[in-house]
Amino acid sequence: MTPQPNPQVGAAVKAADRAHVFHSWSAQELIDPLAVAGAEGSYFWDYDGNRYLDFSSGLVFTNIGYQHPKVVAAIQEQAATMTTFAPAFAVEARSEAARLIAERTPGDLDKIFFTNGGADAVEHALRMARLHTGRPKVLSAYRSYHGGTQQAVNVTGDPRRWASDTGTAGVVRFWAPFLYRSRFYAETEAQECERALEHLESTIAFEGPSTIAAIILETVPGTAGIMLPPEGYLSGVRALCDKYGIVFVLDEVMAGFGRTGTWFAADLYGVTPDLMTFAKGVNSGYVPLGGVAISGAIAETFAKRPYPGGLTYSGHPLACAAAVATLNVMAEEGIVEHAAKLGAEVIEPGLRELAERHPSVGEVRGTGMFWALDLVRDRATREPLVPYNAAGEANAPMAAFAAAAKKQGLWPFVNMNRTHVVPPLNITEAEAKEGLAALDAALSVADEHV
Ligand code: PMP
Repeated sequence: MTPQPNPQVGAAVKAADRAHVFHSWSAQELIDPLAVAGAEGSYFWDYDGNRYLDFSSGLVFTNIGYQHPKVVAAIQEQAATMTTFAPAFAVEARSEAARLIAERTPGDLDKIFFTNGGADAVEHALRMARLHTGRPKVLSAYRSYHGGTQQAVNVTGDPRRWASDTGTAGVVRFWAPFLYRSRFYAETEAQECERALEHLESTIAFEGPSTIAAIILETVPGTAGIMLPPEGYLSGVRALCDKYGIVFVLDEVMAGFGRTGTWFAADLYGVTPDLMTFAKGVNSGYVPLGGVAISGAIAETFAKRPYPGGLTYSGHPLACAAAVATLNVMAEEGIVEHAAKLGAEVIEPGLRELAERHPSVGEVRGTGMFWALDLVRDRATREPLVPYNAAGEANAPMAAFAAAAKKQGLWPFVNMNRTHVVPPLNITEAEAKEGLAALDAALSVADEHV
């Protein structure tokens, strides 16, 4: 039964939360979490009866929306038959989820190691790469987010790593391409691509190729701003990895499972990594699940020698049953194709039209259901609407933008000077248009800071 609005219950939920829940990435006394009563499809609502269209898909994970009846039923059925079982056994939900995922992943990424989410998938991918190569270092991009556990936060570029960056984890960062804020003084995508590859190859040369286990990249960086790599970049990185015997890890935790209008973002570029991490969309986040898809060559390393790593809940049957149901629903309902079509025909033209009218929009970029508006003070200089990693007063323009969107019944994804348009992949055309209209009103508030 779906919980209905009830302010008294809402106040009690909020009071217990404030008393006892310690929230992620937050100064505990400076936050005011919304008490959520229920959710369905592309919407959720609070206990006071306010309803929000979720343009953030939670944290970019509810790819098939909230409470899809077939996935809820599959979880219930799994709970009734086998709620849990230890990872060393073969269990139907787990083997079927692995089979379906391997069928979708590119190339020979045919073995699946299951984790509880994205960060631990990154931890294990990097461990596999180090053991496979016998080398210590990992190269990662400045504009990236790979998770909140120790190794994952160390390879992250996002400022959230600063407070816990040990600086000793064998991580070297480099600049990946991003023409709008080019570090390479490039004026075209082709120049950006060529110079970014030159920069990466010289980083490899100066670090010493024989010391580098892996290069990790988000196929399309998500949290850092949805920057589609230029044509030729990822195949260029693939070639460098082959040349120097480096394991190529693509992190598809956010971009994978239909977000880009293809099953994986790697499909957009025809590139196959050696290891691919996933989570979120694999089961729409209904039960925690992530994993690493492993190439034949790396799987072979651990064919006769044990892989030294594991998790109590690796491939938890409830999470895997949710994945099987999600992947089947996505195929049956043509959700990936829908994301590509609605993205190209409604979201993209809608965002470009908003950019024409709102001077605060510096750039619109993305694909499928994976879009960012880069908000600026000045289109000519591209100065961001708020400074890098702005907090408190410095972030007031983005806070005002988010408040205005919520007032319009839209829950936006906001990070630094950007708002990301990342709705459920099966959002309807009417819902998408409703969201764009709300964004229009909220951008007028951002425009006041131009
Ligand atoms: N990698 C990427 C690309 C992500 O976007 C995220 C989460 N936003 C993670 C890893 C970490 O995933 P989790 O929060 O499930 O640990």
